[in-house]
Amino acid sequence: MISDNPYLRHAQTERSKINNLSPDISQSIFLDGILKDSVDFVLAEQLLDRELWKKFVEQYRLKSDSAKSEWRGEYWGKMMRGGAFVYSVTRNETLYSVLEDTVRDMLTAQDDNGRFSTYSEDAEFTKWDMWCRKYILLGFICFYPLCRDDILKEQIVEAMKRHADYIIDRVGSKIQGKMPITMTSVVQDNKPVHGAMNSMSILEPMVILYRMTKEKRYLDFASYIVNEGVGEYEDSIFELAYEDKISPYQYPHTKAYEMMSCFEGLLEYALETGNEKWKTAAIRFAYRFMETDITVMGSAGTAHEFLNHASVRQTVHEGIGQETCVSVTWMKLCARMLIVTGDPIFADCFEQTLYNAYLGAFNKERIDNHKAFPKGFFIEGIEIKPTVLPFDSYTPLLSGNRGRGIGGALLFSDGTYYGCCACIGAIGIGIAPYLAFMRQNNGFAAMLYSDGTYKTNTQNGTAVQFKVEGNYPFGDSVRIILSLEKSEEFTLSLRIPSWSVENYLTVNGEKISTDKGMTSITRIWNDGDTVELGFDMRVEALRPTVYHKDIIRSKIIWRTCEMVSEEDIPTPERFDYAAFRRGPLVLACEGTDKHVSIKGNKDTYVDAKAISYESSGLEVMLDNGLRLVDSASAGKEWNEASAFTVWMKNN
Ligand SMILES: [Zn+2]
Repeated sequence: MISDNPYLRHAQTERSKINNLSPDISQSIFLDGILKDSVDFVLAEQLLDRELWKKFVEQYRLKSDSAKSEWRGEYWGKMMRGGAFVYSVTRNETLYSVLEDTVRDMLTAQDDNGRFSTYSEDAEFTKWDMWCRKYILLGFICFYPLCRDDILKEQIVEAMKRHADYIIDRVGSKIQGKMPITMTSVVQDNKPVHGAMNSMSILEPMVILYRMTKEKRYLDFASYIVNEGVGEYEDSIFELAYEDKISPYQYPHTKAYEMMSCFEGLLEYALETGNEKWKTAAIRFAYRFMETDITVMGSAGTAHEFLNHASVRQTVHEGIGQETCVSVTWMKLCARMLIVTGDPIFADCFEQTLYNAYLGAFNKERIDNHKAFPKGFFIEGIEIKPTVLPFDSYTPLLSGNRGRGIGGALLFSDGTYYGCCACIGAIGIGIAPYLAFMRQNNGFAAMLYSDGTYKTNTQNGTAVQFKVEGNYPFGDSVRIILSLEKSEEFTLSLRIPSWSVENYLTVNGEKISTDKGMTSITRIWNDGDTVELGFDMRVEALRPTVYHKDIIRSKIIWRTCEMVSEEDIPTPERFDYAAFRRGPLVLACEGTDKHVSIKGNKDTYVDAKAISYESSGLEVMLDNGLRLVDSASAGKEWNEASAFTVWMKNN
């Protein structure tokens, strides 16, 4: 099958998968290269900032969000989730103490009746209140396993239960006289925001709270959301995913981030209950999403955060898109799906997003972008102060610059501001290292070849270390050097990315043939054994997928929050574009109005020279003299002068 998604064009349906894959949470990780730089950046610019944590907690005491449509309450839990994962990777003691202190602080911000909410009781259960309450639970859930103080652990669970109980006492089925969950995100004329997908995504932490406490009422509430928590007039997105006849961009509501968040919850629910139908629905959703909405940059939602069949409609200018919240949530979903399905295509997708949309969103130049603060979100009498956010919110695909908006930006009373994408960023770099060496039956599976040293034990308890070198994906090849306490037989499986058509693999210089998907080597491994992998680093020109007619639902009537179907008949010019990639790195051309001339209308390899690599960047010179850089390195000045494009006009 040839994929409609240009990035997945070489993916073969017949590919080897890994059963019983799991993250190795006991390993010690010592990163190198770009991942290390990125972790250090997030620590310095965000996670160690005690004042920032205090400010986020303070919003709960101030009840600073209102039914106007605000979400300051999401910031703390979202950043805590990232903080907890970055702590597990780095074991940074200062970070631990910052996280523990802010958890203690947050516990004092709980209302007497059990609520953690940034909405006053008068305004509760409107707009984004439930969404924010979800993030409080997720923040605690992520900190809990790291917590070293048993008394504090008990306090956390107790606080979570009181918080959840307040919700489930009031929200639920109409028959029980409760407020339906869809009505907890209403606007004036009683239409829920984004079909209430924001509120319904509380499913995920409710399932996990049940897992932690085994108290049935939390699972009952989760079942209520899954089975009847959809609006009275609309199809259930979960049923639509199970039926598998239409794609997510055709669902009644198409907000990319909130929709994926609901499916993260559905997957947890299915795994907890052993419900095969819902597990199938979640998996089908993920494959459809990958096929129909992921762009070459590894993000989605190219029509103002809404799905619009982006895999085939990448060359349509529809304003800002590819929200960083979408990129990161897709990475999270891919990481979960990799474990659940064992299908390495999800690792391919994870790495695509990591090295393109995600790392590109890092504000490494520390640009203050307060001029982009959205109109309409100012607080009367407060003057906006320059603020540096660690992550950008929207990634261009066509001629455009970074820093064109601040996703989910809201002002604080001191004049500074924060945003949704800035808060979600840290978890991306917190989970990536766990993909490097995962556990499987009798061995390990290498899913991400980022430089670093990964120390763990075999299943017999023998100490083993994998040292990865080669500056992948900027370099041409990867070297994995094993250190072992004593020789031992186990399996080491290696991901062969779907884009890599020609590969070589050697163990101690001896050639081994590769399979599609995963290549598994079972042998007695000795101290000092070295695996070398070479991937297909030819520069490939990708062409847009030609389509004739489509029905999309990306047009929203904002006041009523209704989605409207539109027929889309493309003009032929839409297909006169080309994008370039080298390995997983999609290449960008800096400057506007750049043209290329690729013959024919099919994907093809082109003559090109990689002229420099460093730990964090790549330059490629096409044979016509056009200079390209890896997309994450492009446009870092965030101004019009640093505009870039990934899809170049081809004529
Ligand atoms: Zn966002």
